[in-house]
Amino acid sequence: MADPLFRRLALLGIGLIGSSVARIARARGDLAAEVVVNARSAKTLERVRELGIADRIEADPAHAVAGADCVMLCAPVGAFAALAEAIAPHLAPGAILTDVGSTKQSVIRDVGPLVPAGVHFVPAHPLAGTEYSGPDAGFVTLFENRWCLLTPPPGTDAAAVEWVAEFWRRCGAMVQTMDPAHHDRVLAIVSHLPHLIAFTICGTADDLEDESRQEVLRFAASGFRDFTRIAASDPVMWRDVFLNNREALLEMLARFMEDAQAMARAVRWGDAGYIEDKVQRGRGIRRSLIELKQA
Ligand code: NAP
Repeated sequence: MADPLFRRLALLGIGLIGSSVARIARARGDLAAEVVVNARSAKTLERVRELGIADRIEADPAHAVAGADCVMLCAPVGAFAALAEAIAPHLAPGAILTDVGSTKQSVIRDVGPLVPAGVHFVPAHPLAGTEYSGPDAGFVTLFENRWCLLTPPPGTDAAAVEWVAEFWRRCGAMVQTMDPAHHDRVLAIVSHLPHLIAFTICGTADDLEDESRQEVLRFAASGFRDFTRIAASDPVMWRDVFLNNREALLEMLARFMEDAQAMARAVRWGDAGYIEDKVQRGRGIRRSLIELKQA
């Protein structure tokens, strides 16, 4: 077995993503010699204790990061600024500060200015998830064959970036470095907009009169069901994602609404060719995903 990458890894937030990392660290032994966990509530910390996925539990984030050579923010992105403020004076010189947040420009905006000199800040985003949240939701294979995007600000120490890349490779992920603005645009279309549509369509169905609503539930297998899985995701996490990727999300939404209008027009005027072409393109995208083993 390779030597552990880090002596002490501090995870701030221990839901789906943090607890998956903690489980992998436990299972592999070569990520970190010691895993320290912090969360907001005593209930979550107690559950982490019961699950046995941390070497040490700390109720105070400042205590959790003391002496850690890697600190990973695993809370919703809206909580990062306050967390960074609380831990900044306690980060060890030479430590790596990284995160798993779904938006990257906001993390660089909120956390970047608070990072003390001598601490390496390497923002990251593993593109893996489920609709479940909390410390029970994590599992060791979550990141296998998934991408992890790194968005280091210009001038970041290359060795620190490689350290974080190796961390994610050991978690089973494929790693790519990306410009943060580009990341936010790509994620707006592949993740944030689909979630927005899922939450919206479930709301639309729920607003229907009682009778129709019951039929929506009874006959959900016709397509609605797939939206409900996405819509079951954590409300706080998604509230924070939408509010912290506002521009890119609104841009993609505007493009989508234009295209939806075009489809509506094709339906109204009986433009069979247009409709068939769109469905055909959808099938093509699905086929490509299957070929790339990302389905
Ligand atoms: P989660 O399961 O909801 O867990 C969130 C964790 O953060 C909990 O331990 C929670 O503690 C803690 N937390 C919540 N609010 C906090 C606050 N204000 N201050 C400090 N800690 C707080 O979340 P998750 O799905 O693992 O997501 C974590 C991060 O990963 C987010 O930034 C998200 O954008 C990103 N991400 C998520 C996915 C996904 O599909 N879920 C995929 C990739 C990246 P308590 O339990 O004590 O409240």
